[in-house]
Amino acid sequence: MTIPVSRPHLDDNDRKCVAETLAASEISGTAGTFIPEFESAFAEYCGVPHGVATTNGTAALHLALATLSIGPEDEILVSTLTNMATFFAVLYQGAKPVPVDVEPDTWNMNPALLESLVTPRTKAILVVHLFGHPVDMDPVLSVARKHNLFVIEDAAEAHGAEYKGKRTGSLGDIGCFSFYANKIITTGEGGMLVTRDKKYADRARNLKSLAYGNENRFMHSDIGFNYRMTNMQAALGCSQLKRIDFSIESKRGIANFYNNALRDIADLQLPVEKPYAKNVYWMFHLVLRGGFKGKRVEVMRELKEKGVETRESFIPYNMQEIFLKKGLTEQDLCPVANDIGQNGFYLPSGPVLSERELVYIATSLKEVLDSVR
Ligand SMILES: *Cc1c(COP(=O)(O)O)cnc(C)c1O
Repeated sequence: MTIPVSRPHLDDNDRKCVAETLAASEISGTAGTFIPEFESAFAEYCGVPHGVATTNGTAALHLALATLSIGPEDEILVSTLTNMATFFAVLYQGAKPVPVDVEPDTWNMNPALLESLVTPRTKAILVVHLFGHPVDMDPVLSVARKHNLFVIEDAAEAHGAEYKGKRTGSLGDIGCFSFYANKIITTGEGGMLVTRDKKYADRARNLKSLAYGNENRFMHSDIGFNYRMTNMQAALGCSQLKRIDFSIESKRGIANFYNNALRDIADLQLPVEKPYAKNVYWMFHLVLRGGFKGKRVEVMRELKEKGVETRESFIPYNMQEIFLKKGLTEQDLCPVANDIGQNGFYLPSGPVLSERELVYIATSLKEVLDSVR
């Protein structure tokens, strides 16, 4: 038996809602009522008026950049430590991503570095609320205002996380979410872009559905995409959204358990929750310090032998071979992220972990760390 890093939580209402769409033959991305219902309910949850559902989180990010007309002349400041989907979205638009190093404690974009990276070509800042902890947004927004830059949030890991009492997705111009199976709530595959600005929502809605014309449907108004979420997925999303509080509370409970169990281990860096933040602890991520540095392979292998699945931290943009080979970036641009990328990993993080499993995981980790020290 292995405890996986994540297992989706599905219930009877989820199954009932999806079955309803099948029974009604309302299965596509233009059929039924669940899509608009999910869009407005999720946008409202985030604290903004508009939501545009997409096929996945990567599509939501790409759609956000296309909506803002980001193009080949533009540079985008992006947090280097992230799922590479964040960077791919920038590259799909032909724009140049500029990696920004992270803070050593939150592992999020370090706002103090932004000013020195702004050039006349800079168009936007793309922040990532990593592992569920919101970015310190005020200094980001102040640089953005000063230089007239868009702010896009990659909130794929941070549904319901709060910055100074405001939910992620409502903090910049456009917020992007993923509903992949291991995210805070899921539609299997899926995503959404949320925004305060009706112009952006209208343009995104048009672009995501092949930019069909208004007067004559087949006189397209732009080069569109098919990024439509299906009604089946939206049905699951509506049902999942009803218990998002449960999902977040269970993530926070798991984090609380791990924090208490692991607090006294020297040389093990635990996640933080800054005074400005409500962390939703998408995944419980740790960094090996001091004597444990460089022992990640061993630690992860031994945990696996005990039936505990773990996963390495993300590899920063500036360390990705494909981008280094193309000469797009250099390894030593982001030393803090490099260190975390090399020594970080995450533990099973629910939302359906039993107390017994949690105790077993924490005990196993302690044993493994004792043995490699
Ligand atoms: C999951 C994730 C994505 C991509 O979302 P998909 O739905 O898998 O396309 C993008 N950014 C971050 C930070 C993610 O964690």
